[in-house]
Amino acid sequence: MTIQQKIQSLRVELNKHNYNYYVLDNATISDLEFDQKLKELQELEEQHPQFFDANSPTQRVGGSITKNFDTVTHKNRMYSLDNSYSKEDLQDWEKRIQKMLGSEDIEYTCELKFDGASINLTYKKGQFVNAVTRGDGFQGDDVSANIRTIKSIPLLISDDFVQDFEMRGEIILPLDGFRKMNEERISNDEEPYRNPRNTASGSLKLQDSTEVAKRPLDCLLYQVVTDERKYKTHFESLENARKVGFKVPKTISLVKTIDKVFNFINKWDTKRHDLPYETDGVVIKVNNLQQQEELGYTSKYPRWAIAYKFKAEQVSTILNEITYQVGRTGAITPVANLDPVQLAGTVVKRASLHNADQIAKLDIREKDTVFVEKGGEIIPKIIAVDFTKRPTNSVPTQYATHCPECKTELIRTEGDAKHYCPNEFGCAPQITGRIQHFISRKAMDIDGLGGETVDLLRKEGLIQNYADLYDLRVEQIIPLERMAEKSAENIVAGIEKSKEIPFEKVLFALGIRFVGETVAKKLAKHFKSMEALMTATFDELIAVDEIGDRIAQSIIDFSNDLGNMQLINRLKTHGVQLKVSAESLENQTDTLAGTIFVVSGVFHQMTRNELKKAIEDNGGKVSSSISKKTSYIVAGDNMGSSKLAKAETLGIPIISEQDFIDMIS
Ligand code: AMP
Ligand code: ZN
Repeated sequence: MTIQQKIQSLRVELNKHNYNYYVLDNATISDLEFDQKLKELQELEEQHPQFFDANSPTQRVGGSITKNFDTVTHKNRMYSLDNSYSKEDLQDWEKRIQKMLGSEDIEYTCELKFDGASINLTYKKGQFVNAVTRGDGFQGDDVSANIRTIKSIPLLISDDFVQDFEMRGEIILPLDGFRKMNEERISNDEEPYRNPRNTASGSLKLQDSTEVAKRPLDCLLYQVVTDERKYKTHFESLENARKVGFKVPKTISLVKTIDKVFNFINKWDTKRHDLPYETDGVVIKVNNLQQQEELGYTSKYPRWAIAYKFKAEQVSTILNEITYQVGRTGAITPVANLDPVQLAGTVVKRASLHNADQIAKLDIREKDTVFVEKGGEIIPKIIAVDFTKRPTNSVPTQYATHCPECKTELIRTEGDAKHYCPNEFGCAPQITGRIQHFISRKAMDIDGLGGETVDLLRKEGLIQNYADLYDLRVEQIIPLERMAEKSAENIVAGIEKSKEIPFEKVLFALGIRFVGETVAKKLAKHFKSMEALMTATFDELIAVDEIGDRIAQSIIDFSNDLGNMQLINRLKTHGVQLKVSAESLENQTDTLAGTIFVVSGVFHQMTRNELKKAIEDNGGKVSSSISKKTSYIVAGDNMGSSKLAKAETLGIPIISEQDFIDMIS
């Protein structure tokens, strides 16, 4: 096999795995193996740059920065859709097109209307060429680099399809992924994204494609545009598109009458809530492509298609009071307290008002009657005020000027949507919030200590900050409400045990703004100690992979604060891990760099996991199945016979647990 053939076969293989995983939702290879193959391809491509291909699976991880997106004129205009809201509207539409076609023999496709950002993907000779947003319908932005990171979009199409075509679809953010992104933002005390649609379309315009690659975007396809007359109907073209790898939802249905269209609409009006993504209606299209052509377009819409919009679930209720919440970083969130009302199956009592601008924009006031809607948001939102019901004595909302908890004057820095309470060390919810974050499972994981207890300890004056936890004594805790000797002992033991928590988690626990779990890991790995991190310059910080200006500045602000430095010193005195442990440093070598191990069987001197960790700590890699790339198989007792046979045919050395230990010592 030549290098070029090797590269080609890896690309084909990786494309297939991507398809299985991202389109069929059926993984056929372990993540680790996939990563190994990808790495292998990356290395080959690096060594042989003449075989570069923008459509290689290696290009899907992102890496490019687009400062300005090129404007591209659409070869075929991207129209909007005419809307309908009732069965009568649809019947009128049917009459119009029957008349134009001079026939009553019309077949329709019913599809869901996916709620995201529309995209036009161009392919030539079966190869992905570019991806352009709808823009004004005539021209849009070339967002190809970002689109390539969406792994369910095929970049190479087999011959079993038209070869020069445009594929139209919707870039969506599935609800699950959207919630996860928001959980992370909330835990960093950042304002959550409003809804999946805006986040999806915003993602397409991010300058850094690596950032896009991290977002769980997907692409649902709904139309093939081509001059080739291979298919006679819309349905057939989509079915074939699905076969060659496009994600065409199977919810599409073929019907012959508007009554049947309406059955589809009624069914999905409720069932759509079970889908993993948002939809806002149904799109009805004339199935026969010849008929589509005859019907043509108005100045805005195709005549051969129409959208039916689901009614958004919406209710009106009275807003009694606007209150303000203080997060652990001091960020203020205004909350609307509502007259309880039933909405989409739940009782709604509160709605987020986001920030001062949002309140001003909608002119929301206390005692107003407001319309509340539940979209993909976790929290329902207020979409408008019913001005006809506004009380005559109503006055515009004065946004809070002082912290509701500690009465300190709020600040708002330019460019920040939120107000902050600057009284970091004297504001109760900030103090409690920081300690609660410190003890949480992903941080110091302190057993026996819950949020309520933290608040109690603070109120009793026993703790003011997380360093105080380490001075707590059992006798101080026992007298507290609902506290027994046993639980007090558990708390103290839990705190004691947290001294073993590794540095990367401690760093996360400190609650430095914008330093989430992943960032903390990166920083710990790079700087290795709190001391090195706290003395790092801005330039040194941003030189670290994935650390941007915002994070760097936040770390600098944190380390310039004397109070913080005192806390860190106290943690240090108490024996909290403020550097990567000597043990883990010591155990980390490059001895095994470039070697891939498969571990099989039962071991005696260490557990399988310890063995795997030892491989990785020494720079080696662990793979779950044997291939030609495998360097060694570490075999314990009862190694599987098929593995053994495979290892023998491939001539891969089989070593014992002891051989391995000798190898690294
Ligand atoms: P509108 O933006 O309301 O004019 O609706 C037109 C948009 O609906 C198109 O640009 C598509 O992005 C989107 N859309 C979502 N699902 C479909 C679908 N199944 N068929 C056609 N368009 C769709
Ligand atoms: Zn405050």
